Amino acid sequence: MAKTVCLFCGAKSGNSKLIKEQVIQICEALVTKGYNLVYGGGRSGLMGVVAEVFLKHNREVIGIRPKKLIIDEDAHNALNKLIVVEDMFERKKKMVEMSDVFIALPGGVGTLDEILEVYMQRKIGFNDKKCAVFNVEGFFDSFEAQLDYMVKFGFLKPEDKKKLVIEDSIDALLDGIE
Ligand code: AMP
Repeated sequence: MAKTVCLFCGAKSGNSKLIKEQVIQICEALVTKGYNLVYGGGRSGLMGVVAEVFLKHNREVIGIRPKKLIIDEDAHNALNKLIVVEDMFERKKKMVEMSDVFIALPGGVGTLDEILEVYMQRKIGFNDKKCAVFNVEGFFDSFEAQLDYMVKFGFLKPEDKKKLVIEDSIDALLDGIE
């Protein structure tokens, strides 16, 4: 059965051409591996970019979106399924239920919130699903440095830090989640 990857990424595009190119490449690699997509359901920014790659290759694309965002802005209208939920908490729960692996691509605080939720749940043992951060262009260097500080000061076990895969190469990241 096809696996489902949940991608967290910016509702904005950012200003790096290289990040956008690498995001398209990692999506192409995930499509080649046969993954379907679960994501935030938007068509703006990097979210729109990732949805387009999966749709172009006829993979199943499911968006999960809180009611408020449907009212405030346009959702993507070409998805296989758009699941409307009450709030951001329910959305994260649904994303975790419906996906096998999770990857954070560059984004803002929404992206950080989502990957931290999944990682924290895995660390505590609420789920056993692989999660990863695509550190393209060193975008997540300072995030990784923060985790290292947590280890240094005894707030995070080194073995727990390893439960989040952080890679700057697409091949290494895909190896880490499979
Ligand atoms: P951000 O990284 O702050 O741009 O937030 C993007 C992440 O949070 C995505 O992975 C979405 O799941 C969620 N999100 C935040 N803003 C939106 C939006 N306007 N439409 C859909 N999802 C959003």
